[in-house]
Amino acid sequence: MPAVMQNQAHAKLLEPLNLGFTTLKNRVIMGSMHTGLEEEPPEKLAAFFARRAQGDVGLMITGGFATSETAVLWPGAGRMTSEQDAIRHRTVTDAVHAAGGKIAIQLLHAGRQAYNVNMVSASAKQSPIFPFTPRELTPAEIEQEIDGFANAAAYAKMAGYDGVEVMGSEGYLLNQFLTERGNERTDEWGGTFEKRMRFPLEVVRRIRAKVGAEFIIVYRMSMLDLVPDGQSLEETLLLARELEKAGVTILNTGIGWHEAKIPTIATQVPRGAFTWATRKIKEVVSIPVAASNRLNMPGDAERVLQNGDADMIAMARPFLADPDWVLKTKEGRVDEINTCIGCNQACLDHTFGGKRCSCLVNPQACHETELVFVKTTTKKKVAVVGAGPAGMSFSLTAAQRGHAVTLFDEAKEIGGQFNIAKQVPGKEEFHETIRYFNTMLKKEGVNLQLGKRVSADDLKDFDEVVLATGIIPNVPSLQGVDHPKVMGYLDVLKHGKPVGQRVAIVGGGGIGVDTAEFLTHHGVEQSPSTSIEDFCEFWGIDREQKARGGIAGVKANPEKATRQITILQRKPKKIAGPGKTTGWIHRAALEAKGVRLLSGVEYIGVEDAGLRIRTPDGAEHLLEVDNVIVCAGQHPNRELEEAVLALGKPVHIIGGAFKAAELDAKEAINQGARLAATV
Ligand code: FAD
Ligand code: NAP
Ligand code: SF4
Repeated sequence: MPAVMQNQAHAKLLEPLNLGFTTLKNRVIMGSMHTGLEEEPPEKLAAFFARRAQGDVGLMITGGFATSETAVLWPGAGRMTSEQDAIRHRTVTDAVHAAGGKIAIQLLHAGRQAYNVNMVSASAKQSPIFPFTPRELTPAEIEQEIDGFANAAAYAKMAGYDGVEVMGSEGYLLNQFLTERGNERTDEWGGTFEKRMRFPLEVVRRIRAKVGAEFIIVYRMSMLDLVPDGQSLEETLLLARELEKAGVTILNTGIGWHEAKIPTIATQVPRGAFTWATRKIKEVVSIPVAASNRLNMPGDAERVLQNGDADMIAMARPFLADPDWVLKTKEGRVDEINTCIGCNQACLDHTFGGKRCSCLVNPQACHETELVFVKTTTKKKVAVVGAGPAGMSFSLTAAQRGHAVTLFDEAKEIGGQFNIAKQVPGKEEFHETIRYFNTMLKKEGVNLQLGKRVSADDLKDFDEVVLATGIIPNVPSLQGVDHPKVMGYLDVLKHGKPVGQRVAIVGGGGIGVDTAEFLTHHGVEQSPSTSIEDFCEFWGIDREQKARGGIAGVKANPEKATRQITILQRKPKKIAGPGKTTGWIHRAALEAKGVRLLSGVEYIGVEDAGLRIRTPDGAEHLLEVDNVIVCAGQHPNRELEEAVLALGKPVHIIGGAFKAAELDAKEAINQGARLAATV
């Protein structure tokens, strides 16, 4: 589509926003993410933000920086509490401004949501997901914490930031003050909503007093707490109005406290699932309001603005996936956007695992100074066998560096196992990754040879060969494994073989869980991922917000699966799939649909009547099932290795072909990109 037409297609999104004292280039905010760069030398953070500023995003917001010693998420966490901090941050703001961008720093007080023995809160009430009980702040300390926010904002201004974002969502200190869930005080800071609301309002008032009128104050507001005893709708609307009066420039959306038992950003959440909550706030204020959560493509973002649900769109992870998201939208290159698939595997899972963030589909994210792709001076003819994530990733980067790449696959389409994964309900976003590589491989002139099973003979004329031939599923040495009722996961997910009503799944890894997910939906009219309405009903979200926190008192009647499914594994640990931050979602969803999860079992064998097992208590059971589906891991497909090595040229092996155990798409894409940086 020509650029001009595309611009019209996203006219609202790309429209500048005049804030009175300054104008943002467009309606897109890059939302706050703690990436792990905050605690590293500032040059890395500067490179990360400068790269995104080059991509033309309207306003960027940093990860959270603590406003006082007691505000920190953990003892070593980044803070903005001194002139030295301000001086250090100059590196970041200078780099962003040089690239033509605008940046605000997020000011965060974690309250009881921290790994910090000195934590404080409105009341001495422990969070269910953090290990320590906070100490209740005295009235004098409350004043000091408010001043902490105001001083931090002043240091931010000194550091050259264009504004601050006050973190008032996700269950942090401001939410703890706002709700009875965190605030049991009976003094001037608790008891009624008006008193509970004083803390965030004072924070904003004192910041405004310190920084003057011409400085952006974004307030990230919890539009929907999704926890019992959270805010009511009336309280949320009142808070929004009062925040506007107190001096907020932009209201940004936060959905759900960290301790909520409802998914809010994982890939299973439909795109734009919560913009209806933002709309209610927009209707009562006159300052710009930004919608967020699971918005990752320009078409959906534009629709949200056109519908009047919001004035701006805040997206965070999509800018890990593609720093040029806005630029590509502006230039009519939407098909070239590397879309965030909502997997959390390299971002949130890393953060919660104490590792630096990156992105499954973009390994350069947060590694801008370390993973650098330079044009080659020695153009080589490279053959890549296998167009799965590893082969696609290598081919694209190698071609971008200037090599002549031929990419073979025996399948008629690129994508490898992503073509299987994309059919699993809740994994629809995998289509976007395949679309991205399809567009980019063609654009970069990669010679695609699909529908061709390669032998060593086909590779003679190349300078180097990359084997990215993926995996072969394991067949366990289980008694009766050749019984007709035994199937592999590929029979189900790839070959569409009929499956009976009663199923046992051998293996509770990612693929076992996905196969169960697929089978619970198969034959069911609607799935939780098909529409926002169904998603909200399934997870018990009260869209009318009659109940506090927006959660229905009783979980809405979950659809039971039409099949009886049992997932089994031998390890004693819980079956939940591999994701650190998403495993609980799989588990909750499967259990709600009546799927049985059995750990610590011993397989005795498959027989005509079903699968015989021994449970941890030593008892023997026969699971009367129609089919046993094997999802027992994989081993590398190295069929070509010997013959290709015999050609006597450099051979590289990546992805599942290199190491199948614990190999996921994150590692496959990362290996492909890192190898391509060196050939
Ligand atoms: P593959 O994707 O297996 O690609 C190998 C390619 O090589 C294939 O296309 C094959 O046709 C081709 N090939 C092999 N031999 C030849 C030959 N001789 N000639 C020509 N072509 C050949 N990972 C995640 O990180 N997150 C997830 O959520 C996730 N979900 C998944 C869900 C399912 C149902 C499945 C099956 C997998 C999932 N994975 C997930 C795993 C992920 O897809 C794999 O880790 C990844 O695809 C491995 O990439 P690869 O390039 O090494 O191999
Ligand atoms: P996996 O995660 O290694 O799980 C394999 C399962 O098979 C385990 O539950 C294992 O449990 C069982 N198993 C292994 N050997 C067995 C045997 N001989 N007999 C019976 N059971 C056996 O592998 P996967 O599920 O095949 O997934 C492949 C890769 O794709 C993984 O790296 C995974 O992370 C990735 N993936 C990720 C996602 C995601 O959502 N992030 C989804 C799908 C796949 P026991 O040994 O305890 O029985
Ligand atoms: Fe998005 Fe996954 Fe990348 Fe995180 S790792 S930014 S969720 S694609």
